[in-house]
Amino acid sequence: MSDVRLEKLWLKIILGMTLGIIVGLALSPHGLAYIDEQTATILGPWIKLPGTLFLGLIQMVVIPLVMCSIILGITQSNELDFVKKIGLRIVLYFISTTFIAISIGMFLVHIINPGAYIDPSLVEAFQTETLQIKKTQKTFDDLTIPDRLTNLLPVNIASDIVQKNLLQIVIAAMILGAALITLPQQTAKPIKDLCEAGQALSMRVIDWAMVTAPYAVFGLLCDITIKLGFDVLLGMGMYMLTVIAGLILMLCVYLLIVKFLIGKSPLWFLGAIKETQLLAFSTSSSAATMPFTLKCAEEKLDIAPEITGFTIPLGATINMDGTAMYQAIAAVFLVQVFGAISGVDLSTTELILLMITTVGASIGTPATPGVGIVVLATMLTGIGLNPAAIGFILGVDRILDMCRTTLNVTGDLTASLVMQKLLK
Ligand code: ASP
Repeated sequence: MSDVRLEKLWLKIILGMTLGIIVGLALSPHGLAYIDEQTATILGPWIKLPGTLFLGLIQMVVIPLVMCSIILGITQSNELDFVKKIGLRIVLYFISTTFIAISIGMFLVHIINPGAYIDPSLVEAFQTETLQIKKTQKTFDDLTIPDRLTNLLPVNIASDIVQKNLLQIVIAAMILGAALITLPQQTAKPIKDLCEAGQALSMRVIDWAMVTAPYAVFGLLCDITIKLGFDVLLGMGMYMLTVIAGLILMLCVYLLIVKFLIGKSPLWFLGAIKETQLLAFSTSSSAATMPFTLKCAEEKLDIAPEITGFTIPLGATINMDGTAMYQAIAAVFLVQVFGAISGVDLSTTELILLMITTVGASIGTPATPGVGIVVLATMLTGIGLNPAAIGFILGVDRILDMCRTTLNVTGDLTASLVMQKLLK
């Protein structure tokens, strides 16, 4: 990243974000409304174009990059024992931090009780509307556990690539990487060389994309602000505050880990990862940010590629502390709002069950914008609430999605540092 155009990139990204929000608010029919609604709807996709192109460029290389990085990560260690060691540790670590995140969320949502701040007339108006919404999503209950486990296996890699099933692709790459270690050097070499070239090639495209990042975030944020405006924030303040306070507390947990477990300064950590965090915030997608997360882990945090090749792609797909915390808070909040009307009350056992489901749900949540809320809909069915209730929090979801994605990505980087410490 020595390119002069990439100097002070984080500052340019912040500038792009700020300008995007300001212009968005000026144009939004729900904001200052300098233009009429129809023109704003036509203008939106044009303003968003740099962002759409940026995301397209990254999506183009994400799958080859994930495959090559994982295979290389596994083969660089050159022993199956190392893979087992890191695999076990990372999964335990991911599950532990997810539980911490959910516990913080549960604690805050009970203490703050954001449901109590909602205007009853808002709930009534929403209910009348919602009665017409029919349940269409396939819920978790439709699938048995063996079915779900079988679905994880990349039986048909081509179809997983087409459907962008990142988790299945990660699993496929792990199996291929582990198999490659056991082959004779000479037989394995062409594939390793291919992966090395594939990784370098993808990274070059990412470097190019990086140059356009400030314009991309301007477009993305401006378009979202045009759509949302100020209105959406009204009435939902306490709920948003609860989620954001939880995410900040979890960030503090990571910084404590960096300080006491890794022995590094939290400020150094935040300074090194700020660009990646800003991109996560702007794109709302751990998957789209993954190439930058990988680069940041290797170049800024100085973590060995055999560790990052494993922890970052895996983390981007299954480690979502921000999403888990948000799903727990949102579920309890919706029970606070609609529980009395729908006759749903969460007992301690149900809360514990909800916590366990949330860990599973966050693992299964694809790393793209807005899917956390779709998975939440299936969780609501589990606790007996009409999934249409998510419509109530949909308006503010994008903003919270941006915040939770930032935490998700920070969690992956922290995990990589921890693994480096444990294994080196
Ligand atoms: N957007 C999140 C991510 O990519 C997932 C979610 O919570 O919707 O990390």
